[in-house]
Amino acid sequence: MRKLIVANYKMNGNCEFFAEVQKKVNDLKVKDTNLVLCPPFVYLNKLNKLNKQIALGVQDVSNEINTKSTGQISPNMIKEFGAKYAIVGHSERRANGETDELVSQKVAVCVDNDLIPIICVGEKTKNSSISVLKKQVQSALSKIKCGKVIFAYEPVWAIGSGEIPTNENINKASGIIKSTAKKCGFDVDMLYGGSVNEKNCVELLKSEIDGFLLGGVSLKIDAYLKLVSEVENA
Ligand code: PGA
Repeated sequence: MRKLIVANYKMNGNCEFFAEVQKKVNDLKVKDTNLVLCPPFVYLNKLNKLNKQIALGVQDVSNEINTKSTGQISPNMIKEFGAKYAIVGHSERRANGETDELVSQKVAVCVDNDLIPIICVGEKTKNSSISVLKKQVQSALSKIKCGKVIFAYEPVWAIGSGEIPTNENINKASGIIKSTAKKCGFDVDMLYGGSVNEKNCVELLKSEIDGFLLGGVSLKIDAYLKLVSEVENA
């Protein structure tokens, strides 16, 4: 099955960096992997000449379609730049007050406006129960009846820490996420995110996941390219 690799650049990069990303990623020969690049909004137009198999995404979206929303970005604006995906509910946004309710509104705005949400869920600490995933998934899907959605299992403690869960634990999380979504009427793909790099990606791929949501490694372009080729050849 084709794997999906989503790069979240967070609040990093500049014009020069994204020009280099575009050039180097376009030189990649990918057959069995779909790539999505999610730059900060202001750099979307620096990735406007990507090869066909590379898609664009964003790191957030407005929770409502209301032109009186200072600072918000609507799905139509995002689509005008050719983006097809939106990361929703990243733990760094949840830490800034984004609630399950807000996440469900953003998921609905995406689905109603033909953007594919990549919904981040995950437990906070290494000792937290992963049963929290069930509530996060149910809530995220509560305002939609159908449509394509993707989940990213991102244990908060694994993000940027260099620590990763065992494949067995990823499989447990995947089981909860997929079966909860199924009960809500959705067949979903699930990515894993949190300290993925070019060295651990092949081992992580042995778990029941459909790809990766990357953070830090996306900023080291050569390491990112190596990761993509490892996944291609796995
Ligand atoms: P990381 O970030 O790969 O740097 O751990 C992942 C993420 O925040 O999605």
